[in-house]
Amino acid sequence: MSLRRDRLWLAFLALGAICTVLFAVNVAADLASAVIGGVCVLAWAFGPRLHGVRPRRPWRLMTAAASFFLVGIIVRAMLVEQPAPIAQIGDAFTVCGFGFFIAALVTFQSRWGMDRHALLDGLIVCIGAALASTLLFVLPTASIPGRPGIVTVIAGLYPLLDTVTVLLVANLAFTTAVRQPSFMLMGSMMLLVFCGDLGYAIIGRNGDVTGPRLMALPFLLAFTLGGAAALHPTAKALARATPLPIQAWSLPRMLLIGPAVAMPFVLTVTLGAETPVKRWALGLGGAAIVVLLLVRASDAVQSHAAAQRRFEHQATHDPLTGLPNRRMLSIMVERLLSEERPDRGANVWMFYLDLDGFKLVNDSWGHPAGDQLIIDVGTRLRHALPAAATIARVGGDEFVVVQRCTEPEAMANARRIMECVERPLVVVTAEGGTADVVIGASMGIVQSLKGGGRAERAEGLADALMRDADTAMYRAKESGRNRWTVFDASMRDAVRERVEIEVALRAAVAQEQLSIAYQPIITMTTGRPAGAEALCRWQHPVRGWIGPNMFIAVAEDSNLISALGAWVLRESVSQLARWRADGVVDDTFWMSVNVSPRQLGDPVFAERLGATLRQSGVPAENLVLEITESVMVEGSDLTERVLVDLRALGVRISVDDFGTGFSALGYLRRHPVTGVKIDRSFVNGLGTSAEDEEIVRAVVAMSSALHLAVVAEGVETPAQRDVLMALGVPLAQGWLWGRAVDPATFAGTWSDGQAGIQAVRVALPAAVPSD
Ligand code: C2E
Ligand code: CA
Ligand code: CA
Repeated sequence: MSLRRDRLWLAFLALGAICTVLFAVNVAADLASAVIGGVCVLAWAFGPRLHGVRPRRPWRLMTAAASFFLVGIIVRAMLVEQPAPIAQIGDAFTVCGFGFFIAALVTFQSRWGMDRHALLDGLIVCIGAALASTLLFVLPTASIPGRPGIVTVIAGLYPLLDTVTVLLVANLAFTTAVRQPSFMLMGSMMLLVFCGDLGYAIIGRNGDVTGPRLMALPFLLAFTLGGAAALHPTAKALARATPLPIQAWSLPRMLLIGPAVAMPFVLTVTLGAETPVKRWALGLGGAAIVVLLLVRASDAVQSHAAAQRRFEHQATHDPLTGLPNRRMLSIMVERLLSEERPDRGANVWMFYLDLDGFKLVNDSWGHPAGDQLIIDVGTRLRHALPAAATIARVGGDEFVVVQRCTEPEAMANARRIMECVERPLVVVTAEGGTADVVIGASMGIVQSLKGGGRAERAEGLADALMRDADTAMYRAKESGRNRWTVFDASMRDAVRERVEIEVALRAAVAQEQLSIAYQPIITMTTGRPAGAEALCRWQHPVRGWIGPNMFIAVAEDSNLISALGAWVLRESVSQLARWRADGVVDDTFWMSVNVSPRQLGDPVFAERLGATLRQSGVPAENLVLEITESVMVEGSDLTERVLVDLRALGVRISVDDFGTGFSALGYLRRHPVTGVKIDRSFVNGLGTSAEDEEIVRAVVAMSSALHLAVVAEGVETPAQRDVLMALGVPLAQGWLWGRAVDPATFAGTWSDGQAGIQAVRVALPAAVPSD
């Protein structure tokens, strides 16, 4: 069915061709022309509906136009022998048809949107055509003596109507990039109508109104092509034309515009301008064309320049805040650095700002809230800082400010910047309400060393400046949130060192150069170990022992942590299995192992761990995984699922360094954790700081309410131990009992029969130099 529907236009073309031939050879000519006209009206009325073309309005107008043309032709044929004005009744219909036809074209045009350039080009062509038709047809026709006025008017009207049609068709062709069959059929139809009218206009010069029968041929062909255009499936595309990307003067366009521009000159030379009317027509028409050309040219240049500016702006600015982006920033920094400036003491200062807590806002209130926050921070910075300061957004939540200024000015800027981000911001929540959020920022500050540099060197200097500012920012972040750090050269060395460590660590992990030390976790009432924490150790071939505080962070940044962490788990679990087998520890003894947030982002983490446990024969309850609070705060749905899987396995989960991070009670309740480890910093103050004592008391109360196991870490003195026991903390870990040691030393020190030596332990040197 749909195939047949799609082929209908071909059938129509065939029918039109047969009728046209019949008409041409004068066999049933009247019937043939009536059939073409009638079927064409039907095609325009129903064709668009057949293909679900929207909107229908232009097609209805076309149908009306075709109906009027058809009636016009019939009536004219019937009344051809009558005297004026009866003979002109047919023309009245045709003129009405033109009215509808022009309305249809205008409707199409309005659907496509008016393009300034297309209109200007169309007008140029139109004026050229109007000049030609006026001088060639309208004026000669008007000057034929002894004709009824109505005949003269109508004869002059056709060329003008044709001219308007030319304008609209040219305009449509200039506007759209679509050249589909339906559009081409329609265009050919209009061309044929134009040719037909031209024929009549030519004979009209001699006062004839009716020519030989064959002069109707172009109109019959026009009906045929028009009907096919309406039936063609691509008629749909006519109403939603794709605008031409660039309104350039392409070759086809020049072929249309060129003759129009040449028209006044050609007409002057060929026809002469002997009468005042002709002179005025040529003068005014020519001047109008020149003016339009000028407008068109300057308009094209301007819109080209505007597009260029827009493009450049997009390439160099952040779309969200409108601030310069990283690319623009480096150009501006280079410019600042290459400026020769006499004012001593003023250097280029760069402030690299990274928001803290932005991810939390994004996750809790949604991306629109996060976007709003970024925009607000950008606006605040702009208002707070001097106009001479350049503010750029260089990453999701990273801003850079640069300015050439003195040191006191730079420090004032730093304070203003921090103040901007610390003040509470209002965001719109996903539910439509508003929320006050408080974020902070870590900032790295750096100044260029030289007051000015040469342009060639500025490029490298700008990059170096950004790198140094970034390094200082990371240093600020490491030392805690909401801080700024001024760059110094030792940080560059630290970065280099970090890179070296990463390279060496990669090799160490591959070659299993790492080892594990075990620190006992003591039941305070008995002084006997209830478990041990596995702590990773690395003996670097050149640097000697490197502490985990240095290399774990490097491993986390470089994703080495997954391989490293997996190895630690395998190794410590099999160590526990050996101890259990050798009778070093009893059945209740557990192993605590630190796991990084990144490890918990691996969907098969729990599954693999389950396999490791089965292989070693260690029950899952004898393994405690120590996770950081950030896992619960910043973790995704995926980490959450991994935690649930781990609990399902039977593995225990403890929150390490408890109290240092976000410490929201809600987190503990919402996540499947079984214990907390009170951070060393609180244990430190026990016996001297009442505040720390209160914190530990609160943690114990909360943990017992939530049935969580509590371990205190970093216990160094008997006084701390006594306070902890008084507060009801049952388990602890610290140098008071023992440092982390290699497995053999651990077994030698803590296996049964070695009890009661904890008082001596304090003085013992660590077997593995670590803490
Ligand atoms: P942590 O989990 O908080 O481990 C406790 C740290 O405190 C250990 O440092 C331990 O040796 C030290 N410590 C124990 N008792 C005392 C004490 O009485 N006083 C003092 N001042 N310190 C004590 P270490 O071994 O240098 O480990 C540092 C951190 O490195 C660990 O902190 C842990 O976060 C991380 N880490 C160690 N091994 C691994 C591992 O295999 N995987 C992961 N992801 N992280 C690890
Ligand atoms: Ca730990
Ligand atoms: Ca800890």
